[in-house]
Amino acid sequence: MQENVFVALGSNLEAPREQLRQAVAAIAALDGVVLRAASSHYGSAPVGYDDQPDFVNAAVRIATTLSPRALLTALQAIEQAQGRERSFRNAPRTLDLDIVLFGDRVQGDPELTLPHPRAHERAFVLLPLQELSPDLQIPGQGPVAALAARCAEQRIARLD
Ligand code: AMP
Repeated sequence: MQENVFVALGSNLEAPREQLRQAVAAIAALDGVVLRAASSHYGSAPVGYDDQPDFVNAAVRIATTLSPRALLTALQAIEQAQGRERSFRNAPRTLDLDIVLFGDRVQGDPELTLPHPRAHERAFVLLPLQELSPDLQIPGQGPVAALAARCAEQRIARLD
């Protein structure tokens, strides 16, 4: 089992917190995946397109025997099952699942870029990651705590 695979979750439509709970359960139920930990929920301001509800974000740490591609395919099936429609970039969504880190793997494939290309600059990814693994490093970017500190101007709050 490969350790230290982190998946970021986000939703801002149709009961976002319930969407995230359902998605965590679906990830935990995947063949070849063991759920190690799930973060709190965080409320965050939308990025890129303002005229939409705030997001709820979280992250999970999993161990998996799946390849990165097979994991991405499985996560996309969960997005589809929870009603995700791809309308336009940064549009509101019932569920967004991104592979943030797959161990130490670094790859530039546009279909699956690792680490996720924007994770290091987004508080809504970094804070849940830091909660799960305070000493985590993002390959090529640095310690998650230092990266999170640089995002202090981004509006985000941990939810109960
Ligand atoms: P989005 O609509 O923002 O969820 O972007 C989905 C697209 O990003 C898909 O076509 C994926 O193939 C691609 N992608 C590239 N890197 C990643 C990653 N690390 N995690 C999830 N999707 C990725």
